Parts: sequence; C-alpha cells; structure tokens
Amino acid sequence: MDHSHKDINRRGFLSGTIAGTALIALHPFSARASTNQAHLRIMETTDLHVHVFPYDYYADKPVDTVGLARTTAHINAVRAEATNSMLLDNGDFLQGNPMGDYIAYERGMKDGDMHPVITAMNTVGFDASTLGNHEFNYGLDFLMKALAGANYPVISANVIKEMGAAPREDVTLVPPYVILDRELTDGAGETHAIKVGLIGFVPPQIMMWDRKNLEGNVNARDIVETARAYVPEMKEKGADIIIALNHSGIGAAEHTEGMENASVPLAEIDGVDALLTGHSHLVFPSPTFDGYAAVDAEKGLIHGKPAVMGGYWGSHLGVMDLLLEYEGGGWRVVTSSVETRPISQREEDRSITPLVESVEPVLASVQDIHDQTLEYVRRAVGKTAAPLHSYFALVADDPSVQIVSNAQLWYIAEMMKGTEHEGLPILSAAAPFKAGGRGGPEYYTDVAPGDVAIKNVADLYLYPNTIRAVRINGAQLKGWLERSAGMFNQVEKGAKDAVLLNPDFASYNFDVIDGVTYQIDISQPSRFTSSGEPLNPDASRIVNLTFNGAPVSNDMEFIVATNNYRAGGGGTFPGADGSTVIFEGPDTNRDIIVRYIVDQGTVNPKADNNWSLAPLGDTTVLFETGPAARTHLADLEGLTIEDAGEGTDGFARFRITL
Ligand code: MN
Ligand code: MG
Repeated sequence: MDHSHKDINRRGFLSGTIAGTALIALHPFSARASTNQAHLRIMETTDLHVHVFPYDYYADKPVDTVGLARTTAHINAVRAEATNSMLLDNGDFLQGNPMGDYIAYERGMKDGDMHPVITAMNTVGFDASTLGNHEFNYGLDFLMKALAGANYPVISANVIKEMGAAPREDVTLVPPYVILDRELTDGAGETHAIKVGLIGFVPPQIMMWDRKNLEGNVNARDIVETARAYVPEMKEKGADIIIALNHSGIGAAEHTEGMENASVPLAEIDGVDALLTGHSHLVFPSPTFDGYAAVDAEKGLIHGKPAVMGGYWGSHLGVMDLLLEYEGGGWRVVTSSVETRPISQREEDRSITPLVESVEPVLASVQDIHDQTLEYVRRAVGKTAAPLHSYFALVADDPSVQIVSNAQLWYIAEMMKGTEHEGLPILSAAAPFKAGGRGGPEYYTDVAPGDVAIKNVADLYLYPNTIRAVRINGAQLKGWLERSAGMFNQVEKGAKDAVLLNPDFASYNFDVIDGVTYQIDISQPSRFTSSGEPLNPDASRIVNLTFNGAPVSNDMEFIVATNNYRAGGGGTFPGADGSTVIFEGPDTNRDIIVRYIVDQGTVNPKADNNWSLAPLGDTTVLFETGPAARTHLADLEGLTIEDAGEGTDGFARFRITL
C-alpha cells in the first residue's frame, strides 16, 4: 500500500489552504467556487446507538473510540472552515448501550420526557435525521415520545402506518421526506436560496426483527421501490438536490425485492444526488469496499454519486463535499469529494490515541443521565440462582456458557416463529471467552449467586458479536463438535497425569452446543488442527450424540443459534461457512443477554451437563485454571476432580480422573 486514505484526505484538505495563512483552512471547493458556484459540505453521523459520552458502560471505564461529544469536535471544525454546511444523522440513535437500556427499562419515556440522545443531538444541532432499524426495539410508543423532543425533522419513507396502493398513497409513520429551504453563499460571496431534499429509508427487515412491536401497527416497503416513487415527487416540489438518508449498507449492485443493504441500486435512481449509508457499522470510502460493483471505494462514489458511511458509535464523522452550480433555474452537483474523520486511531502496538477532545456542552447536556446510567450499570437488573464462573468451562458443562446459550435460544425461538424453519429443533452454540490462557490466572468470569448487574454482562460476553442462526444437518453438527473437541490433547487410556488442554487451541473456539447431549472421547485423535484444518478426517471424538434421547443421524436437521463470527466462517467450523445462515439479527448477543435477564428477572443458568469428557478407565489428566476455582469445586457434578497443587505462572492445578 502506498499511502493511507487519511493521508490523501489530509493532502486534499491542505491543498485548499491559502498560501501564507495557516489560520483558516478553506476547503478546495470553497476556494475554487466562483460566481454561481457554491460549496456545500454535508456531514454525517450514523449508528450512534446512544453513545454520547466517550464511555464503555459495560466495562465501566472511559474509552477514546466512541461518543458524539468527540465527533462534535470534528463537526465544529467543519462548521468553522466550510462556507455552507449541513449535519445529518443516518439512524440507529435510540438503542445500543446501557444509557439507552436505562431509559427504556428503568426511567421510561413519559409524555414530555427528553431522551438523552435527542437532548445531545439538539445541543449539537442537526438539520435532519432518519430512522434506523434499532429505533423500533423499544416499541412505537417509546419511539414517538423520544422523537417529540427532537428540534430537527426526523424522516423515513418506507415505514408505513396505512399502506396505500402505491408508496405515494401511503400514510407513513413519520414524514417520508423534507425539503429544507437553505441559503447558500457562493464563491463571490452572494447568497442564494436552495431547496435541499432529504429522504429516509430503513431495511424492511424491521418487520421480522421487531415483529412483536410492529406487526399490526406498521408495515415496511422495499427501499428502492419507495425511492422510485418519491424522488420524482420531491423534484416536482422543487428540490434542487436530493440526498438519501439510507440506513442501509453497501451491498449487491442488483436490486432484489426487500434487500437489506440497498445503497447501490438506490444510488442508480435518477434524481438521487448523494447518499448517506450506514447500518453495517463500516467506513466508506475505504478499501473494505474494493471490488464492489458500481462502487469507487477510494473516491467514495456509488454509480458516480458521492456516498459516505461514518463508522458507528460516533467513531467517525462522514464528510461529503459537493460543488454546486446554479444552472437552468436550479442547483446541481458538478463534482464532489468524500472523506471520513476518525475520532481516534489505533497504533501499531494496538493502543488507542484520541484525535479530538470531547466538546463540553454536549457532555453537560446529558451529564445527569450519564451519572444515572453509571448507577444503573452498577446495580442489579436481575438475579442469578447459580454462580456464574468459567473456571471449569473447558472441562465440564458450565453456567457462564449456559446463560449465553439460554439467552440465544430464547431469542432465536421467537425469530423462527412463522418462518419455514418453525418446528425444527433449535440448538445453541456458545464458547467460554474468559478462560485463563494468555489472559492469565485472574482472567475468568466470576459472578456470585444473587444480583447481576449490567456490567457483569460484559464479562459473560466479551465481544460485540451479533446474533445469527444456521440450519445444518446431523453430520455437520457432529463435525462442528469434532472441531471444538480439538481443545484437548490426545490421551492414552490408562495414562497418568497427562496434560489435558492443547495450549494452541483458543477457548473461544471451544463451542459447546446445547440442546443435544454428547461425550468427548479424548483417547481418539482430533479430527482437526487447532486452527481448523483437516488432520485425521476419519477420527471421531464425539460419542453418544443424541437429541431427545435418540441418536443424531446424518440427515436430521437443526437450527443452531450462534454469532456472526462463527456463522460467517470464523474458526472454520463444519456447517458454519456462511452458506448455512438462515437468520441474521441486528442485535448483539450481549444485548440479548441483558434483555433475557431483564425479561426473566431471576435466571438460573445451572449447567444441564449435556456434555462431558468420556470415561477412559483409570486415566488421570492435569488441568490448570485460576486459583479462585478452589472455592468452587463443590459446584461440579459428575466430574472426579481434586486439587493437585500449584500450576505454572500463578495458575492452580487440578487432577481429573476419567
Ligand atoms: Mn446500527
Ligand atoms: Mg449445557
């Protein structure tokens, strides 16, 4: 790679600086705009998910990678340097961190209440916003009360209260579009009127993802179909330019009915001049999109039109520079440039350097709710009847894994209702994330019975994965478990004090699958290497694999609840290469665990012992775990285990008789 995008952007930006004056950096378009030309700078935030403070409420510590208070530093800089600018939000602002959960589950939204993310956005000053799919997570009543506080228009063209024969006859939940009257200052310093048309879209999959909140109340239309209907109407009403606020990602070039990531076919529609994209939490322009049809991933163009995606949680500000020209009674876009401005950067040693500071008035606007959220994450939201620790998660069925499986199962069972997959057995796959290893002897989940706080959930689910379901057969299920079973060294029958765990095998690849029962016979060789390559294709460690008491046959069919990493091929598991995915949810597995605990009140994720190491007869193995495990030996059922003294590097050693 010759140079990073950031360098290109910086060079492009500096080239507009007036020679000899370093104080004011004019953008090249502002410098170049002549009479009858004007430079309009469109700024995008997207997928804020209630992140105002630079704070990770799960970990209960400040972070430099998130927060509208930080993004606002870029917004203020753009406003200072650009002659004409607009700030637009592309949706998914209302849900997605514990501040959002605090308002939804604890404080509530009464008539007249302000939602903190709206308060913060009012403080920053937005020109408009659209609805993202997560706006519907807490129900329509909650959404409408939150929107009532916005001092900017919120639009969405394809969420419909009363479906008409065609989109233009629909009664939409919020206005489908707005045409904003603005004044532009041209290159000669003259002001002119311009009508800026903004139209919003959301993936129609909201009807599946939030069926419980939406069915019978609203409907959703295809994004492209809706745009084709409204864009001409906006032109008829005098919009000079039209910008699509598309809470949808950049995907296939070909339009298919109901597609989730519809930005490319949307850009093809005549009259759409520029697009804000989002939903997939990525950055555009960036090499992530190299090779996408009709996409220029370096210049930030889709079908030749400027488009941008500003990351997520406030990580980036998207900036689209449009050079407009007045011609034939209206303004049109003659050229553009697109960039994103990150709020932080990751160094080679993986440390994070902040690139901007928080803007105080934005923090101050929601300081009280921030403080209340801190109290909320630190106090109980539910109770656990079982201790949630991971000290033995690699040698026995374990409550810290069980609760993840239970929550995933609870969610996917609801999502399968009314689909062609309803009625198939639903299994759930989960792995211990915090299980010692390179993390050290303290690196375990350990929540005592009793209160569970939100911040404990971060411990139960470390990664911001999102929920998936796959549909696989019995042979694939067995292969999946064989891949997991590479966790263990091969141990001869009758061996004494053999080392149990393969140190090259990552614990997050030790998927336990709930809903079936099985044993792992470690006297047999592993079928796969620790990274998932075939090793002994005919080997079989998984024995007595049963569903509902009957052996699992190769052609039985199952749904397995899992995450986007595994379902998309992460770890190279049989049955999980991306081709078997039948459900992609927008929710993080972590959010699902929070909802599950709030919904259930008290959870009892006592391990059901659906898997175990197979008895080998007079064989002992050594296993190392955190020394705090010693106080939990009594929690184990069906495992013959004894303290075997000190292990290496501060770990404790145990002897298991198989
Ligand atoms: Mn989002
Ligand atoms: Mg289990």
